[in-house]
Amino acid sequence: TEIQNLISEKKKEWVGKRIKVRGWVHRLRDQGAGLLFLILRDGTGYIQVVLAGKLAENYDALMIKTETTIKIYGKIAEDQRAPSGVELQADYFKIIGTSSGEYESIFNEKSNVDVMLDNKHLVLRGSRTSAILKMRSVATQSFREHYFHRGYFEVTPPTLVQTQVEGGSTLFKLDYYGEDAFLTQSSQLYLETVIPSLGNVFCIMPSYRAEKQKTRRHLSEFTHIEAECPFIKFEDLLNIIEDLVCDTIQRILDSPFFPTLMKELNPDLKVPKRPFKRLDYKDAIKFCNDHGIKKDDEGNTFEIGDDITEKPEREMTDMINEPILLIKFPAKMKAFYMSRCKDDSTLTESVDLLVPGVGEIVGGSMRIHDYKELQDAYSANDLDSTPYYWYTDQRKFGTSPHGGYGLGLDRFLQWILKVDHIRDVVLYPRMMGRCKP
Ligand code: ATP
Ligand code: MG
Ligand code: MG
Ligand code: MG
Repeated sequence: TEIQNLISEKKKEWVGKRIKVRGWVHRLRDQGAGLLFLILRDGTGYIQVVLAGKLAENYDALMIKTETTIKIYGKIAEDQRAPSGVELQADYFKIIGTSSGEYESIFNEKSNVDVMLDNKHLVLRGSRTSAILKMRSVATQSFREHYFHRGYFEVTPPTLVQTQVEGGSTLFKLDYYGEDAFLTQSSQLYLETVIPSLGNVFCIMPSYRAEKQKTRRHLSEFTHIEAECPFIKFEDLLNIIEDLVCDTIQRILDSPFFPTLMKELNPDLKVPKRPFKRLDYKDAIKFCNDHGIKKDDEGNTFEIGDDITEKPEREMTDMINEPILLIKFPAKMKAFYMSRCKDDSTLTESVDLLVPGVGEIVGGSMRIHDYKELQDAYSANDLDSTPYYWYTDQRKFGTSPHGGYGLGLDRFLQWILKVDHIRDVVLYPRMMGRCKP
């Protein structure tokens, strides 16, 4: 029998069978007395292999080293000491690809961050990083399933664009056949244009931001999960965001991979309680001032209109220690397309979802749907409306009240996997000063 899936928890059912496995030598331990123990990794999981007698002789000369690719035949036997309760007792092996054997000398737990990032293509073979990458795949799939179960269609907006969404300071500019263009900061504006033909719509796309600040939650390229919904009110939007987060976490918990992969990460993950705590921006400012949370390193206190940046936002969220829907930000500090509150036109129908350990993971709002109001918003924000003609047209051809949000997949993973720094939940992070491997 060729075993296809080493992640299986049913390894005990294989006891007594002769099997074939192919994979990489994850660990290697020379036991002496003619015994060689391997942990074999095949991308799906791990199994302990024991080579004895002739098979263990001269193994180094036979090219069995860490990261060697190898094919092994043998019988499965019960062994309480093995990590999965069984081991493969090899009777034959064949080397498929040799390894230089230097793997363990390139980095270790004490290596600095740059060494680890320079060698991410090798680091990712480690069990923790593999588990994170697999959970990322499970989470992405869970988001998709959520949307399909709620009747959304998925689209693929362009990432080469000529409009900004989030302010000029974080734009990556590029030369597009002699014209100016940017890498997209968000697909939101494009999603809005699809509403009249597809209704509820979502995308999972990269967004790019030239972030000059170094925090543990900002990347230059991140995976953005965005959705737009027609005919909703602000209160509906808040419920939609709660539903997205809770239903997706439930799907992740239900994944057959969850127990094995989350063992070393965050096995205690739970669906947060609904409804989430709601907090007006002005009350968040008051909360910070009442609890000694400072605006900046100079120790200034907050005033209405101040941006709550990464550090104080995280301090506040950690103190409250549950997901928070932070709502109704002043229009002055928010993007041009956000609609105003009915009872106070200086405020926007906007929401950030904050979670402990990270802070903001979702930003959303109701969008201006009135033609005239949008024109005023361009002027108020000093934006030339010319390149936005297609966005404006939505308000000319059958407008509708609508709202939406963007969730950072990387930040979501940082939260549910309890990973300190965002760079550790992406395959090859892009940050200021790093564009390799
Ligand atoms: P922040 O305040 O942390 O800079 P933002 O308010 O600029 O975030 P939005 O424009 O609201 O972010 O984007 C929606 C979501 O996209 C954010 O809530 C976050 O999850 C994610 N996101 C934004 N910028 C980044 C980034 N540089 N790296 C990773 N994720 C990001
Ligand atoms: Mg930002
Ligand atoms: Mg923000
Ligand atoms: Mg935001």
